[in-house]
Amino acid sequence: MKLYNSLSHKEEEFVPNEPGKVSMYTCGPTVYHFAHIGNLRSYIMEDVLEKYLRYVGYDVKRVMNITDVGHLTSDGDTGDDKMLKGAKREHKTVMEIAEFYTNAFFEDCRKLNIKTPDVVEPATHCIDEFIRVISSLIGKGYAYEAGGNIYFDTSKLSKYYVFGELSEEDLEVGVREGVEADGNKKNKADFVLWFTKSKFDDQELKWESPWGLGYPGWHIECSCISMKHLGEKLDLHCGGIDNQFPHHTNEIAQSEAFLGHKWCNYWFHVHHLNTLSGKMSKSKGEFLTVSLLEEKGFAPVVYRFFCLQSHYRKSLVFSWENLENAKQAYDKLVARIAALIPEAKGEADKEAFERIRADFTAAMDDDINTSNAVTAVYNVFKADTDAATKLALLDDYDRVLSLDLTESAKKLIAQQQNTDIPAEVAELVAQRKEARAAKDFALADELRDRIAELGYVIRETRQGTEITKK
Ligand code: AMP
Ligand code: ZN
Repeated sequence: MKLYNSLSHKEEEFVPNEPGKVSMYTCGPTVYHFAHIGNLRSYIMEDVLEKYLRYVGYDVKRVMNITDVGHLTSDGDTGDDKMLKGAKREHKTVMEIAEFYTNAFFEDCRKLNIKTPDVVEPATHCIDEFIRVISSLIGKGYAYEAGGNIYFDTSKLSKYYVFGELSEEDLEVGVREGVEADGNKKNKADFVLWFTKSKFDDQELKWESPWGLGYPGWHIECSCISMKHLGEKLDLHCGGIDNQFPHHTNEIAQSEAFLGHKWCNYWFHVHHLNTLSGKMSKSKGEFLTVSLLEEKGFAPVVYRFFCLQSHYRKSLVFSWENLENAKQAYDKLVARIAALIPEAKGEADKEAFERIRADFTAAMDDDINTSNAVTAVYNVFKADTDAATKLALLDDYDRVLSLDLTESAKKLIAQQQNTDIPAEVAELVAQRKEARAAKDFALADELRDRIAELGYVIRETRQGTEITKK
């Protein structure tokens, strides 16, 4: 399987450290607000990656953090603490905010068929780990104290800009977004590992540390949580493209300085979902959440389908019109599957199944090309095989795509049956069902005849009772 590695800027054959096993880390949400659908694009695409790794047989262990402390409004060390901002906005404590939005995040994930990672760890549960790693970095000369805070010294590294050739100017942009520059830093790129002399006097959550009462910087949490659960060598690290710098750059800096060897082999970055007016934001314009999509009549799975139609390494433009197009395409797809269901008889043809399935795996092996994988779904209908094999293929692809394909088709069939059938017939069908359950087959046959007199034919299929007009 080929995967684009942001570290080497190339597609590479994916080879984990240990044959058959994959350690996978994902940067989790900052739980100060609802996730917007841009954030969720990243989680959908990472979910597909994880499911495909499992599909091809890897034993995957996936870990995700929950950022409930230390992430400032700028990804550098300036601005306000996002959690504190959320707490003030809602007149709640930071922990109340964290709990509420963590639950909201997983509820969104559930609706989008995003599997919960094997381990989910809030940053506030790992303070001891952070202190241990920061102490070691100070001991090794990679970190220094200034103005009461602990900083990572980027000048100690032979190479800092690991993901690209960033210029000094780019770097300044990275740390400039906020308001004031931090005069304690020896080098522009240095970053906070531990805040003690904080400019946030009202910081709610503080812990004792060798450097005084304080709280961790944002980047240290991912390095520590990953190492805690996945060890010193990580196969795969994921996040949105904006995480490359400074977050992932700093994760690599501190992890490798601490470990003394290479840490993570493959970096998977999902490009952004943008609106027609540009970057997606929680504060500007319409705040696009899963709930808003539902309010506007879009099933969350339609949004998932919309995301899968594009490759994760291309930015994607969201508009209601684009989503409406995805909805129509999804509904048509489901209707085609619904038409296939009554035709499906007997077992799938194994030889045809394997032959046709190669189309799907080729797409996914090509750097998780979900756009081509969706084409592979459509190709199933044209394939030279029977309906049972086609349905088996769709179910198989859906183990990775998680688009509820057959479930939605069955629901559609049930809806059609319920709306098309007169109440009198529906009542007789229900009575016949009861009679069959009570093994009163004479009554069941009589009811079937009465249903026939009203112009309907009843048939038992693998998917349940089917009623059609004569
Ligand atoms: P945050 O909750 O801000 O820490 O972000 C959660 C995840 O969403 C991170 O992996 C970000 O890189 C990612 N992300 C942020 N904005 C977008 C966007 N517009 N499109 C896709 N992913 C995003
Ligand atoms: Zn992270």
